[in-house]
Amino acid sequence: MLQIENLFRYGIIDFLTNTLIYGAVAIPFFMLFWVWFKNKFKHRRIQEIQRSTSKNLRHEIKFSIATLLVFSYVDIALYFAQINGYTKIYKNISDYGWAYFVFSIVVMILLHDTWFYWTHRLMHHPKLFKYIHKVHHQSTDPSPFAAFSFHPLEALIEAGAYIIFSFLFPVHLFALFGWQILQMILNVIGHLGYEIYPRKFNTHWFFKVKTPSTHHNLHHSKFNGNYGLYFTWWDKWCKTEFKDYHKVYQNLQDRIKGGSKKIVIGALLFFTFSNKVPAQSFELVANLGLGKPYIIESIEEKKDLTIGFAPIVLVDLKFNPKNSKYWGILFSVHYFETRVKGITKITQTPVDGFISNTSLWGIAEKNKVLKRFPKWSFINAYGIGISNENYLTDAEKPPKINIYTSLITYVGFSYRLNDNLSLRITDGLIITDFVKGVHYLTGNWTGQSAGEDISANILFGFTYKL
Ligand SMILES: [Zn+2]
Ligand SMILES: [Zn+2]
Repeated sequence: MLQIENLFRYGIIDFLTNTLIYGAVAIPFFMLFWVWFKNKFKHRRIQEIQRSTSKNLRHEIKFSIATLLVFSYVDIALYFAQINGYTKIYKNISDYGWAYFVFSIVVMILLHDTWFYWTHRLMHHPKLFKYIHKVHHQSTDPSPFAAFSFHPLEALIEAGAYIIFSFLFPVHLFALFGWQILQMILNVIGHLGYEIYPRKFNTHWFFKVKTPSTHHNLHHSKFNGNYGLYFTWWDKWCKTEFKDYHKVYQNLQDRIKGGSKKIVIGALLFFTFSNKVPAQSFELVANLGLGKPYIIESIEEKKDLTIGFAPIVLVDLKFNPKNSKYWGILFSVHYFETRVKGITKITQTPVDGFISNTSLWGIAEKNKVLKRFPKWSFINAYGIGISNENYLTDAEKPPKINIYTSLITYVGFSYRLNDNLSLRITDGLIITDFVKGVHYLTGNWTGQSAGEDISANILFGFTYKL
């Protein structure tokens, strides 16, 4: 039954998840190109003179948040449509097979490209433009945050593709999710303001159908052409491609060639820069510790359901960028296993078995040396992760893969033994979003995890400079 408080709760969880995913895509691109390596990438800027101001950025972020809010409401509406059996979303890949799974993603990309081109052109109609699409075009020199900077009505039109797909043909939940992440990444690259696609990409017999960043950037600086999203063909067929598109692209590629001998396509890997500047460094961080997971919904019935302490192993690669004095980025893998025993609250099923959880994290960590004790530094960190959790018992036969998103935060201290090696202790909290009785991504599995999951953990480890 649809209850207002549930709607509110799902809304908040969904909005936070969407925001985290969007942030995880847009923020690294923004930090790399617009902040940390701004000068290194200068020759890759599509518009040589930067016109984007902090006011523009605020505008983009504000409307991106509004868009994410609209998307959350669409998600909830679809979620309720789905649990009542109105959509064609399915949950077992075996229903249609892997070939169909891949095929459905390709179809969604092609249909979305068409949907985008025509709705976009419609919104450029002189009678309509100022009411809806003008918000997006405030960014004449777009930043990665312009990717979702839409008027709420445009956000609804954007979500239209997603709504249609859910009702039109069978689509797996993960296919829908995968396509959304892919389009988010491509959209952010399209609004990057920097060209990262290779030379001759625009004339290559195969790749020329794909739009490089310059393609959409020209749409932002000149408005009335290059309406396409992923591909160049609609603009070609409808003769809306800017006449100077290829010339601008080639001139830019000439500038890139002259500006740097280093190939920076792999910029996201950071490694290109690691040897040159001593202030930048990589560290290996390894931790062992103990955690205590709680399932919020079950706390009041703790006597019925006990969850044991969980041994945790965590391995990270930490990157300390040149321009940041305190902050580093950690890419980490984390594993824990714990025993669950008792009766679940919602389904009243007896369980006795082990949970295993593997997570991947992106974490921003701050290390600040204490003034009076220079060997000690204070650590605080925030991150987001994606996990796969399995119940190593067949009491309820849950699906094999349960993926969900989590937030992590921790504080602690590190003690420097020498230039390369430090010891550390951290105390953290992980908040995982489950939806009551229904797993967020796998659909209507009413398993023993009902409610949000919180886990507290203490970790001991070391940091070794590579
Ligand atoms: Zn745009
Ligand atoms: Zn436009």
